[in-house]
Amino acid sequence: MSGRPEVLFPIFASLETLPGVGEKTAKLFQNLDIETPRDLLFTLPASGVDRRMRPTVQGLPLPMTATVEVAVERHHPPRAKGRPYRVDVSDDATAFQLVFFHAREDWLKKQLPIGVRRVVSGRIEMFDGIAQMVHPDHILLPEEKGELPAFEPVYPLTQGITLKVMTKAAAAAVARAPDLAEWADPALVAREAWPPWHEALVRAHAPEGTADLAPTAPARTRLAYDELFAHQLTLALVRKTRRKRMGHPSVATGRLQARVLKALPFRPTAAQERAVREISDDMASDKRMNRLLQGDVGSGKTLVALMALLVAVEAGGQGVMMAPTEILARQHLQGLKPLADSAGVVIEILTGRDKGVERRAKLEALARGDIQILVGTHAVFQDDVTFHDLRLAIIDEQHRFGVAQRMALGAKGEKADVLVMTATPIPRSLSLAQYGDMDISILNEKPPGRTPVSTALVSAARLDEVVAHLKDAVAEGKQAYWVCPLVDESEVSDLTAAEERFKRLRAALGEGIVGLVHGQLPVTEKDRAMAAFVAGETKVLVATTVIEVGVDVPNASIMVIERAESFGLAQLHQLRGRVGRGAEKSTCLLMYQPPLTESGRRRLEILRETEDGFRIAEEDLAMRGAGDVLGTAQSGLPRFRIADLERQTALQAMARDDARKLIADDPDLATDRGQAARVLLWLMKQDQAIRMISVG
Ligand code: ADP
Ligand code: MG
Repeated sequence: MSGRPEVLFPIFASLETLPGVGEKTAKLFQNLDIETPRDLLFTLPASGVDRRMRPTVQGLPLPMTATVEVAVERHHPPRAKGRPYRVDVSDDATAFQLVFFHAREDWLKKQLPIGVRRVVSGRIEMFDGIAQMVHPDHILLPEEKGELPAFEPVYPLTQGITLKVMTKAAAAAVARAPDLAEWADPALVAREAWPPWHEALVRAHAPEGTADLAPTAPARTRLAYDELFAHQLTLALVRKTRRKRMGHPSVATGRLQARVLKALPFRPTAAQERAVREISDDMASDKRMNRLLQGDVGSGKTLVALMALLVAVEAGGQGVMMAPTEILARQHLQGLKPLADSAGVVIEILTGRDKGVERRAKLEALARGDIQILVGTHAVFQDDVTFHDLRLAIIDEQHRFGVAQRMALGAKGEKADVLVMTATPIPRSLSLAQYGDMDISILNEKPPGRTPVSTALVSAARLDEVVAHLKDAVAEGKQAYWVCPLVDESEVSDLTAAEERFKRLRAALGEGIVGLVHGQLPVTEKDRAMAAFVAGETKVLVATTVIEVGVDVPNASIMVIERAESFGLAQLHQLRGRVGRGAEKSTCLLMYQPPLTESGRRRLEILRETEDGFRIAEEDLAMRGAGDVLGTAQSGLPRFRIADLERQTALQAMARDDARKLIADDPDLATDRGQAARVLLWLMKQDQAIRMISVG
């Protein structure tokens, strides 16, 4: 199939082919993201109005919208300018008034001649002791009353698009929707009692009551499923394409892993063991691994990463781990080197700082295979970096990697297995949408011996008290992070804030005890400041959010965050995760600038209530929505018209399983159902998937 299937042509035609839509209206529709009849199909009524005929308005619980047949009795043109025009009418049992402001008398006389019968529908309320309907929504001839649906759908509208125009256009679009073959698993459709696609469309556009508007109504669920299924099909196709690999399984011998385990001062948690097993199994298969390791801060992802890297080495190849910052890359090297040494494995670091001869020497050693494990920043994926036999690429702390970026990265080590590690727990609904192309391992257990961090909210007005307490704590040998506020987007002002705080703390606590790191600092000074803190020479580290990810100093037991309300929940959770790593009781002080906004307070309270990263992530999602949690631009997060990414998690899981199964059973989408699925991909504008199926 090289182009859009012909059955879809009518609904991909221009909007102006619909009755009542001219050039101007078509333009206005764009404000609703509607460019073709197809888009109208997936724009469903947001609410509805009960327009059932009633014999009389008498006895109705006013105010309410009512539809009645009336006799027109008398006109009362306004007695003064600005007064309304009134028309007396009566239904079977009582009289009431129709009220019009700024009405044209001749028009009203034509619409409502005295002595005739009309059906009127609109909101009725009591005013000055008389029931009134101000500006009826509908005025119809008695013989036209069949045209008014008992439940009138109300669509989302925009300036210049009236409900009438919208309803008519939507109805015309539905009328041209083709019948399409079933793409969903027939067993699933039967089990869920979903209508076929076409019937679902018709029903979703013709709700018979509020129950039909609920996301759980069968027609709507079905249409939401189709959207999710199309997205998951794309992800499943990406996954299939990426998993293709010319047999290069990396089979672990366990030899090096055993040596490292012996050198470790602790035992891996059950979750770590399970993750290592899942990764080893993937690496041993002839399919290419594409796995996400999700673990809360401090859950011990680094050890899992090392074990995976050792699988690559045991199999005779190399592994690389990329960290987002220089500091983290160095820290990884520091942590991993002793362990690698104990197993006789050669580990090196490569960052943007490597230059000239030294860099060349490293690259040569890497190309010869003399370096077995490389850690570094994105410098490890520069064009001139070649590996002797790269088996595994690990990306640490990159929860903002989108599908497209991951694909670009995969192109580097063509046969390498890929492991992405994220420190921010992602709610299941989002990980399904964003990482549906990957397999997922979860570290849902923290290493033993951690004491909970006690978290408190403190007003900035109490800064002096906080500093005094800090002084006592430092005297007891404790170490603290002091995170400076994000003043605004500019790094310069963050910097000023950090420098000022540094000076003030140095004045209060003494020379040589306080360190400072921020993004602008020359790298060598940054390293020196970090190293001094790690070694315990400095007791307080003033920092901008550069310490957010990964940094591990077990002796640090105090975290002060200034202007905590200006940080996001996930970020605060990350920052707090820097403490509570040793046996020492840890404290996190969230300093805020009063007055707190409602949502600011809520965020800080959630943090005080729980340390469970998954729960925090769910709350974050509920408060901010998916786009903000992941950052829509980078995330490549799909935008659905009907499906609710945040709430329809179970439906998404169904779609994922269904999509993976279909691609496994029918990789070329060649069967009848496969063909139907192709049509769905076109219908849902899944360009990426369409390109993949047309090349392979
Ligand atoms: P993260 O998942 O945040 O990257 P790390 O890998 O940095 O976590 O581990 C956090 C700390 O926990 C480190 O000091 C590490 O040595 C320690 N650690 C990791 N696994 C275990 C374990 N099974 N038992 C005890 N401590 C562990
Ligand atoms: Mg880490």
